Amino acid sequence: MPAHKRILLKLSGEALMGDDAYGINRATIVRMVREIQEVTKLGVEVAVVIGGGNIFRGVAGGSVGMDRATADYMGMLATVMNSLALADTMRQEGMTARVMSAIAIEQVVEPYVRPKALQYLEEGKIVVFAAGTGNPFFTTDTAAALRGAEIGAEIVLKATKVDGVYTADPKKDPSATRYARISFDEAITKNLQVLDATAFALCRDQKLPIKVFSIFKPGALKRVVMGEDEGTLVHV
Ligand code: UDP
Repeated sequence: MPAHKRILLKLSGEALMGDDAYGINRATIVRMVREIQEVTKLGVEVAVVIGGGNIFRGVAGGSVGMDRATADYMGMLATVMNSLALADTMRQEGMTARVMSAIAIEQVVEPYVRPKALQYLEEGKIVVFAAGTGNPFFTTDTAAALRGAEIGAEIVLKATKVDGVYTADPKKDPSATRYARISFDEAITKNLQVLDATAFALCRDQKLPIKVFSIFKPGALKRVVMGEDEGTLVHV
């Protein structure tokens, strides 16, 4: 029996990159989609928020010299491209996905309408939320927390390169250990980076638990959904 009925999965844009320097790696996106498919087969309702960092990041780097809000809108449009790629790969793998955008681009994807998103999830369709929150100065982590709270997800699953939250950076400190679980308060006290600050505060206020895990570890997503000891659970 899965531990959760409805989940919000946050994938960073980099999760689609594979070993490439930017963009979408075909084999990687297919693998990602198959991991998600495994979870839907368990009867779990899945919503996805995908980032755009593999194409454009407004907050840092790519936008040097640009007006921040304009750069952020470009970043949000990048998430729309990733969402379309993800949904199309899902279609090729025999799944039914719907992309809903926080920014109106109606010839391309339908707009985000909460009741419709809920309906799709109840019908067993995968909903991919595109364009982040629709607002500059935010991130897709915050979009994940926001949409997760809105759709009544039981948990936000934050897919990263590392398989959880560690006592120290495991790349720099070999004695670092993974937390199996940690409370929101402890994570703040210990100054551990789980989601960006806005997203973290929203989850904490809404008592929405977060699980940090590695999407690059085969089968990890399924183990997380089954409630097994995988990644780090941030709890109330
Ligand atoms: N972005 C934004 N508002 C949002 C979500 C995203 O302005 O609500 C922009 C921001 O510039 C960000 C970019 O879109 O840098 C890509 O999102 P993010 O950095 O969260 O992607 P990820 O790191 O997960 O790939």
